Amino acid sequence: MIARVSLEITLRKEFDYLIPPELTGQIEVGSRVQVPFGTRKIFGTVTALAEESGHANLKPILKIIGTQSLVTPKVLKLARWISEYYCCAPETALKSVLPEAIRKEKDGWKKQLFVRALDLSGEFPKLPKRQQDVWNLIEERREILLTKLIELAETTAATVRKLEDRGLVEITSEISERDPYAREHILPTQSITLNSAQAKALGEITKAMDAENPSHIFLLHGVTGSGKTEIYLQALAHALEQGKGAIVLVPEIALTPQTVERFKARFSSGKLQTLVAVLHSHLSAGERHDEWHKIRQGRARIVIGARSAIFAPVEPLGLIIVDEEHESTYKQEEAPRYHARDVAIMRGQMENAVVVLGSATPSLESFYNCQRGKFTLLELPERVDNQKMPHVRIVDMRQAREKGPPLFSPQLKEAIHQRLDRGEQTILFLNRRGYSTSLQCPKCGYVANCPNCSVALTYHRIDQRLSCHICGHNEKVPAVCPEPKCKNPAIRFAGTGTQKVEEVLAKLFPKARIKRMDADTMKRKDDYRHVLGDFRAGKIDILVGTQMIAKGLHFPNVTLVGIIYADSALHQPDFRAGERTFQLLTQVAGRAGRGDVEGEVFVQAFTPFHPSIQYARRHDFTGFYEQEIEFREQLKYPPVSRVALLTLKGRNEEKVKFSAEHLKRELEKTLKRASSGGASVPASRLENFPDGSPGVSSHQEIKGSFKDLIIAGPAPAPLLRAETFYRYQIMLRTRAMSALSRELARIIGSLKLPADVSLAVDIDPVSLS
Ligand SMILES: [Zn+2]
Ligand SMILES: [Zn+2]
Repeated sequence: MIARVSLEITLRKEFDYLIPPELTGQIEVGSRVQVPFGTRKIFGTVTALAEESGHANLKPILKIIGTQSLVTPKVLKLARWISEYYCCAPETALKSVLPEAIRKEKDGWKKQLFVRALDLSGEFPKLPKRQQDVWNLIEERREILLTKLIELAETTAATVRKLEDRGLVEITSEISERDPYAREHILPTQSITLNSAQAKALGEITKAMDAENPSHIFLLHGVTGSGKTEIYLQALAHALEQGKGAIVLVPEIALTPQTVERFKARFSSGKLQTLVAVLHSHLSAGERHDEWHKIRQGRARIVIGARSAIFAPVEPLGLIIVDEEHESTYKQEEAPRYHARDVAIMRGQMENAVVVLGSATPSLESFYNCQRGKFTLLELPERVDNQKMPHVRIVDMRQAREKGPPLFSPQLKEAIHQRLDRGEQTILFLNRRGYSTSLQCPKCGYVANCPNCSVALTYHRIDQRLSCHICGHNEKVPAVCPEPKCKNPAIRFAGTGTQKVEEVLAKLFPKARIKRMDADTMKRKDDYRHVLGDFRAGKIDILVGTQMIAKGLHFPNVTLVGIIYADSALHQPDFRAGERTFQLLTQVAGRAGRGDVEGEVFVQAFTPFHPSIQYARRHDFTGFYEQEIEFREQLKYPPVSRVALLTLKGRNEEKVKFSAEHLKRELEKTLKRASSGGASVPASRLENFPDGSPGVSSHQEIKGSFKDLIIAGPAPAPLLRAETFYRYQIMLRTRAMSALSRELARIIGSLKLPADVSLAVDIDPVSLS
């Protein structure tokens, strides 16, 4: 027998190996193996088995890793789709579907030594005193961890071994599973009675799950606090009743112990009881290993995790939930540059599973797909328990501008005062960490920029340093303007970060207990949960933070939310700037009024009449969508079309620019031909997929026409220089993205670039910087 193996080196090629007699019957599609390659030994994954090979002199597989195949055939198929659609090497796609801790050679289980009593008859010769003491402890417990026994009996391993020699006990090495949530005290919960909108939404979901062909995609659009999670929980219970498993994706930052507990608590007891496995980047390698194998062995039937949990080996899969589906963190920023929401949709179609996307502020892509009948829209227009939506007030900051923009308008100051008097809590949001966003000389106009990137350095007051938020470069604050001819000592800081907000706040409200939450203060694994725990317990009055505090937090005593500068994200060179601002304002505002008291939100803005701000004030998603989609239609931006962003980078700017122009000519030449020829797009495995690419009709895909193709650029990237590399971009827009990806793979495969210029292809990018 022959095994075809995809190696862990990017050769875009698979190799045939002999299955040696001692491994016959053990190797299957998806097995991880070690094989000889040249003089090296390399890991790889078996992608197919065959009776014979077209090649001669095959080498044998050296060994198999693990006792079970690690990549299931279904996940293997998904990895193939990722490689083709996202235009990356198959090896890169395949590597991303298994956690690092699983790919390794060692089996990864933590083994510990247990001591077990064998002879409980009591009919054995008297033991020496020290051995007798140890034996008494073992006899009492029957079985005990060796390290624990040594500690309790104040003895040594040698003494225990003497008991083993006498045949009284056995010492065995056994797997001891790591449970990252073992310390949590989780109280079981029961289903909550749904309101009529929730019941209707759940009814539609379960009806689709019971259908003969359950591959169906829902968009659950529910305002903040509308009880989406309870619907998820009851839909998950339905999957378990059907004998199926499920995957729940949550943005990494929202994967708080609070969130995880809600899911574990529901399924920790009762007749549907199952393990809930958790996968995210804050687990240790060992914990991740054990969680993953609980899924692979079918012991954990529900998986909750961040982006890469979409590859969890759940079988059979009945349901995939993508919460906060609009979140840009679902997109991986390095190869393979997949979007977990879109991978979820594809996996749902391949495995006949229902997919539920949930959000208070759906992405334009998903809402557009509802409008076109590809997804089914489910709406929850009201908060549960008759909670009202918070009252949003826009504060026009243009009036108060004479002495430079103030941080706090009189209205916001007054509102904070009231909350402190009443013992209620406040959340203040600013999109920027650090103290000041730049260091400027008012005399000569000098700005302190990063030597490696084309951005200004941010001043961090605590350590008195200037630092770059792109590459991490940092330096001391100069005493005078560094321009040789200037040397102005009155160099000053401009712009505002969260550090400054915290400091000004402490002066305004000296008695308030204030805590800051951003990437600078949340460096350790447990910082986040400690601060949230203190906030929940009422030990903090005002929480100041960045995006970190915008997501899914639910604190009943928060009655005020202040957004310091609402328009700071509006002026970025990205067609999604308006959409991001609307989402952020709605999400942050949604933190207010989650208890009995109605919430109030103050939005301070310099462009108070901007549509993103006004629609967010009225909680009007549909209104926002309608005006925004018109703009996207006009410019042929997603979701009306799809984007492929090609970024070339290198240290020599001229070379990068020249390479980008060369690539543009190649693209024009080839794609124009493909466009006029119509059928010149090669047949591919992709066409076997039920729907080409997510959200685009397969009919269009197969024709492969690029008549709507727009090629823009090359142009310097908005962030021209990052980490010493110059960057130029070409942007392609078309509706037929699967076909374009295939063409791109061919063009790039034969493209000759200088050795010091590299090219990154990003299909459906979420960041254009
Ligand atoms: Zn100067
Ligand atoms: Zn930098």
